[in-house]
Amino acid sequence: MNYKISVIDGDGIGPEVCAAAIAVLNAAGKKSGHKFEFSHVLMGGAAIDACGEPLPKKTVEICKKSGAALLGAVGGPKWDGLPGHLRPEAGLLRIRKALGLYANIRPAILLDALKETCPLRADIRDGGIDIVVVRELTGGIYFGKRNTVSRKNGNDYAYDTEKYSVKEIERIAEKAFEIAKKRKKKIVSVDKANVLDSSRLWRRTVRKMSAEYPDIEVTDMLVDNAAMQLVKNPSQFDVVLTGNMFGDILSDEAAMITGSIGILASASLGKGRFGLYEPIHGSAPDIAGTDRANPIATVLSAAMMLRTSFDLDAEAAAVERAVNAVLKKNIRTADIKENGSEIVGCKRMGEAIAEEILR
Ligand code: NAD
Repeated sequence: MNYKISVIDGDGIGPEVCAAAIAVLNAAGKKSGHKFEFSHVLMGGAAIDACGEPLPKKTVEICKKSGAALLGAVGGPKWDGLPGHLRPEAGLLRIRKALGLYANIRPAILLDALKETCPLRADIRDGGIDIVVVRELTGGIYFGKRNTVSRKNGNDYAYDTEKYSVKEIERIAEKAFEIAKKRKKKIVSVDKANVLDSSRLWRRTVRKMSAEYPDIEVTDMLVDNAAMQLVKNPSQFDVVLTGNMFGDILSDEAAMITGSIGILASASLGKGRFGLYEPIHGSAPDIAGTDRANPIATVLSAAMMLRTSFDLDAEAAAVERAVNAVLKKNIRTADIKENGSEIVGCKRMGEAIAEEILR
């Protein structure tokens, strides 16, 4: 089969990590007889330089005609002085909106070969970490009504509003239930229902929905407790369902306990099969252009794409197996090096994973 993929290379290390992921996808295609067609499109700083705006219309149009999009990263010091709506990161928020991507899926898995990079105590770490954070992406306080009000007496004030509707909660919870079905059938729904009305509605709605999924165990947890439990006993978590701001914070915490930022993948999903797949790291301007970036987060994002948007489970597993095999051979980029590692650059790491797939 032919699969159409839009590639948003972006800025900084974006083009380097995307090139490595493309090499891996081509190997997976060669092995399985599928063909991946890539269309490179602009977003972020690269788009600002080329057309004066962070998200050109053409990018959205091409993405809409693709089965999935792969994104490197956007942003960098060159564009930091621009007003908010013209900054590269504005492209990210806009593309999520334009493509109706309301669910952010972030797996945090401690790979066996990278156990030593986990900052937690060995007895905690050895319980295993394999968590998927399902974060609502287009609602809540980041999109609510806000203002900064000046007062004559100088005591200015500002406010932001957390707002969720039943429909918004239902559609993100549905994603979590669907993901949990294919995993350990356990969801922890995180909120702040002891204080916030929006959280109490969240809790009621998720509870009500859980009746439709009798084989899935749903537990509620307050966000402050969840932050503690993630470092105290991460193996208790399987799927974590939460809103935009809590998910922003908890998914970074979950990422950190699994080691390097260079290996963590993510997907942003909407109603249909289309997804935007991207590493969780930024454009790393400090190492851009030096072939020192770790492409594994982007490669694993591509594996998520194969499984989620294209239903190619076996091919996705082959990519993940190849990543593990290369790491077990102690072939590493500098950010995850250990004693005796063969240290390789971004390009070589991509090639090594591709070769492992074709072995
Ligand atoms: P960053 O993730 O780019 O970098 C943080 C640190 O991690 C740096 O030292 C970097 O060298 C290292 N690092 C990141 N990815 C790596 C990789 N794949 N391999 C090896 N090392 C890696 O975060 P930052 O420095 O806060 O942000 C830099 C730029 O990226 C900013 O303009 C920011 O707005 C942007 N950003 C973009 C996204 C995105 O596109 N989704 C996400 C976060 C930050």
